[in-house]
Amino acid sequence: MAASVPADRPAVVTPAAGPGRAYSVVIVGTGFSGLGMAIGLKKSGVHDFVILEKADEVGGTWRENTYPGCGCDIMSLLYSFSFAPKADWSRMFPKQAELLEYIKDVVAEHGLEQHIRFGAEVTGAEYDDASDTWGVSIAGPGAAPGEVVRGRALAAGMGPLHQPNVPDLPGLDSFEGAMFHSAEWNHDVDLAGRRVAVIGTGASAIQFVPQIAKKVGSLTLFQRTPPWIIPKPDRRITGVERALFRRVPGVQRAYRDGIYLMQESFVLGFKNPRLLKAASGLAKWHLNRQVKDPGLRRKLTPDYTMGCKRTLVSSDYYPALTRPNVEVTTAGIAEVRPHSIVAKDGTEYPVDAIILGTGFHVTDAFEHAHIVGRDGLKIQEAWKDGIEAHLGVTVAGFPNLFLLLGPNSGLGHNSMIFIIEAQVRYVLQCLKMREARGGSRISVRPAVQRRFNRWVQEKSEGAVWVAGGCTSWYLDRDGVNRAAWPASTVNYWLRTRRLDPADFEVAGPAR
Ligand SMILES: Cc1cc2nc3c(=O)[nH]c(=O)nc-3n(C[C@H](O)[C@H](O)[C@H](O)COP(=O)(O)OP(=O)(O)OC[C@H]3O[C@@H](n4cnc5c(N)ncnc54)[C@H](O)[C@@H]3O)c2cc1C
Repeated sequence: MAASVPADRPAVVTPAAGPGRAYSVVIVGTGFSGLGMAIGLKKSGVHDFVILEKADEVGGTWRENTYPGCGCDIMSLLYSFSFAPKADWSRMFPKQAELLEYIKDVVAEHGLEQHIRFGAEVTGAEYDDASDTWGVSIAGPGAAPGEVVRGRALAAGMGPLHQPNVPDLPGLDSFEGAMFHSAEWNHDVDLAGRRVAVIGTGASAIQFVPQIAKKVGSLTLFQRTPPWIIPKPDRRITGVERALFRRVPGVQRAYRDGIYLMQESFVLGFKNPRLLKAASGLAKWHLNRQVKDPGLRRKLTPDYTMGCKRTLVSSDYYPALTRPNVEVTTAGIAEVRPHSIVAKDGTEYPVDAIILGTGFHVTDAFEHAHIVGRDGLKIQEAWKDGIEAHLGVTVAGFPNLFLLLGPNSGLGHNSMIFIIEAQVRYVLQCLKMREARGGSRISVRPAVQRRFNRWVQEKSEGAVWVAGGCTSWYLDRDGVNRAAWPASTVNYWLRTRRLDPADFEVAGPAR
């Protein structure tokens, strides 16, 4: 079922809203986070919430990333809501289109459409000390000029990998050919027979390079750091398996749990890089088996510890790089000219199109966000020493604000949906506690947040992201881990399963 905005949709769709009214919760985003939050609220009996979405369709990551070959690195049976199993996944590793369809089905099944305002981009959020509510400014085709939506809580699910990162390369603006980021794929550009440059070799690039290598005239891949890659055990899910999932209770759950445990075993290596020897042995075997040319093999061999950057899974990336029309260059980019890229070794590569596989703003994603908490505290001021939250969710000085997949709640080894579900449960407990205590604001105690983040940084010391000899999007400019959860997901689940009332302060008259 398509969840795009029909032309006749009214501007405000939830009955609880109206001039001067405040929703129980304003949710931002219709990715897994925002939708998971909405479903959690409904299940706990809260229905007066609104979901603000800047696009005109649900789906988040899986709506935006439409590049050829786009798919998930975690198996479908695990990368899905635990409460919404789908028995008829077509493949072990789902592609973008099937994930988007799944998300739309979840929206329909849970009656979320009526809560969503499409074309409503959040441009800022300010806490009103007098009413203990958030005023959320929105703009776009689905918003009235200067409109502010008010909520007694704000759940921000804007996405950890959402803002495309465009590299600061000399002359990039002067390029006269086609140029786009992998998350904003321009399907109008026909790459067949063209000279194409790809910048970056991260998770997205290794998925689209094999797809486009087959049709472009030439492909020059500008690589800064080679990723560690293990084979992708992808296959179709058989009819027998699907029938079992449908008819035999517990089978699908057993698959899911098995996949979860397999993924989770990687975390032992992240804390203890020596344990990753077996996995890095598999990755080296994979490279040696698929790439015979010693020069190319050398370029593709990582010189940092596995796990330092996200370990990737692919069985078709290396073979694509061995094609005669593909060249991997590691010299670095000196400048971009109107019709070429000049490498630092002086080689000039004439190109018709540039595709940026350069990832997303992560630790700096809030640099320009207008979020103002209690007593006029700006998020940039609160985070002047680095972004941090308690359990990635609550930030001292910002009552009733809940970040979904906030700082240090990212994973390099397991399904982000596991974390999202834990965070949703945690937020619901916060709201329940506020209500039970008869208050209008709930805030994490600053000392609790500080203690938690000291623990995060102590756990990160010596862990592979910090000590693995690479730079990655887990780290901020100062090399501090601000994105990765530094322990097992079981640890995260245990910490969020039961909220410790002592961690929070509830105040203000109930409204
Ligand atoms: C290419 C790619 C592959 C990935 N593969 C994996 C994987 O294999 N395994 C894994 O666990 N995770 C993977 N991820 C991470 C993935 O982002 C998360 O798993 C999950 O989808 C995040 O959901 P979300 O709802 O938090 O964010 P998103 O899915 O990014 O959704 C955010 C939503 O918020 C909306 N939004 C943002 N800003 C505003 C605003 N100001 N106003 C209104 N709306 C706004 C966006 O339009 C979007 O719809 C991948 C990410 C990418 C980009």
